[in-house]
Amino acid sequence: MAPPLPDHVRVLVVGAGFAGLAAAIKMRAADVDDFLVIDKGADVGGTWRDNTYPGAACDVPSQLYSFSFALNADWSQTYSPQPEIQAYIRKVADESGVLDRFRFRTALQSARWDADATVWAVTTTAGAITADVLVMATGALSEPKLPDIEGIDSFAGEVFHSARWNDDYDLTGKRVAVIGTGASAIQIVPEVAKLTDHLDVYQRTAPWILPRAQRPYTRAERFAFKHVPGLQRVARTGIYWLMEALIGPPLHTSPRIGVHLDRAARAHIALRVKDPELRAKVTPDFRIGCKRILFSNDWYPALTRDDVDLVTDRISTITPRGIVTEDGTRREVDALIVATGFHTTDLPIAEHVTGSGGRTMAAYFAEHGMQAYKGATVAEFPNLFFIVGPNTGLGHSSMVFMIESQVRYLVDALRTMSRDDLATVEPRPEAQQQWNADLQRKMRRTVWSTGGCSSWYLDDHGRNTTLWPGTTFRFRRALREFDPEKYVVTTRSDTATTKEQVA
Ligand SMILES: Cc1cc2nc3c(=O)[nH]c(=O)nc-3n(C[C@H](O)[C@H](O)[C@H](O)COP(=O)(O)OP(=O)(O)OC[C@H]3O[C@@H](n4cnc5c(N)ncnc54)[C@H](O)[C@@H]3O)c2cc1C
Repeated sequence: MAPPLPDHVRVLVVGAGFAGLAAAIKMRAADVDDFLVIDKGADVGGTWRDNTYPGAACDVPSQLYSFSFALNADWSQTYSPQPEIQAYIRKVADESGVLDRFRFRTALQSARWDADATVWAVTTTAGAITADVLVMATGALSEPKLPDIEGIDSFAGEVFHSARWNDDYDLTGKRVAVIGTGASAIQIVPEVAKLTDHLDVYQRTAPWILPRAQRPYTRAERFAFKHVPGLQRVARTGIYWLMEALIGPPLHTSPRIGVHLDRAARAHIALRVKDPELRAKVTPDFRIGCKRILFSNDWYPALTRDDVDLVTDRISTITPRGIVTEDGTRREVDALIVATGFHTTDLPIAEHVTGSGGRTMAAYFAEHGMQAYKGATVAEFPNLFFIVGPNTGLGHSSMVFMIESQVRYLVDALRTMSRDDLATVEPRPEAQQQWNADLQRKMRRTVWSTGGCSSWYLDDHGRNTTLWPGTTFRFRRALREFDPEKYVVTTRSDTATTKEQVA
């Protein structure tokens, strides 16, 4: 049985995915030892623990989609499947010796800033705890979003979200519907189609899809990665710069530089889809990059199978037996796989966190839009740090790079707080406002603003609150060190004096 929670820790990290694990490892390396990581799940891994659907794999090459401080010479292929990524995260956690500080099956229920004690008072499913600093590593793609379709609750067959796959349900020989054609669906459909009797794929918007440079690593390559000093780092650096140079600029600046991507994606369709009717259905009507660019070699072949139908008529209702589209067609199915993504612009955890102004972060975001200073800290929420906070997502490279940038900022903030004897740090509203004004100005030039699509990157007001509109190295530079001058700070002696005066 896990030991009970301590009454107090210096740093409480919520979430044990890539972000929470990196924070733990880097805090320990910086001699910040009084911390605890909680996660509502039963293991480390986050995304990679939860997304066990057939075909699940990363879409950034594994050489780059891994920690810079824990390179893995044993990746079996260029884009590794979910079990291998989860095993990698597990191995890094085991070998780094931080797991004694993790408490699983422990969900944060609420966190309230206690201004008198200058601590976060946190309640969890395993009891209460206070913390000087609260780190939200709860993930941007963590809470499944179900579609709001009339009648979905009445469906009598099996229903599950792509991120909550039901391994006990055998799809063999079944009639199945997949709702959605995003990043998860394009991995699921080719695998599930091999099992089902018939598969209907419901598409609202066609995604742009580029071929994937997928291949197994040879034994010689793996041997070389392990034994030739520096080789793997060179390979990783090459992939990093290739993604920054080829995919980043068309998303962030001029659409004209994106012509090579557009041509490649159109040629991909022309090569794989011969039927003109299907070709029209799978060709997007917005600029490439506006929605997430997907990578797959087997999506189009799956759609051309005789036992797979791509349905582009809008769904009007779901009945106990199947799906009815707006043209009146009824398609009966045994199972419904919902691949409609995650809560992204409405950050569910924000409901549960109450700041110094007595209002929840959700209420704060409702007034200001979802925003933070450097994607990390929020005015009115002292001593709270996000990893993968607002506007830190990417359309072109590895999130692990962004996570490491934010962890560096966090650890430097903790170091600064110790060195300068700071009790609280809270970003100055004007610093936060300036950061977001600059960011949104840059955002106006991006394909996400000009590409002619609506996407899960945008909030209800059409504002992009999820993505970083630039290179990852510019983000890293901005977060290279903690900048106390941009913060309202109080020292321990300030708070001691205030407490004495109150007494
Ligand atoms: C299917 C899929 C494929 C992806 N592929 C890529 C890719 O190829 N490249 C890329 O760069 N990115 C990819 N991503 C994005 C991916 O989410 C990030 O790369 C990364 O895994 C995020 O790590 P994280 O630790 O920030 O969040 P997560 O991995 O989401 O972890 C968050 C953790 O917080 C926990 N948590 C949440 N709320 C609470 C609470 N209230 N109390 C306690 N614990 C809580 C969750 O249980 C979870 O374990 C993918 C995402 C998905 C869904």
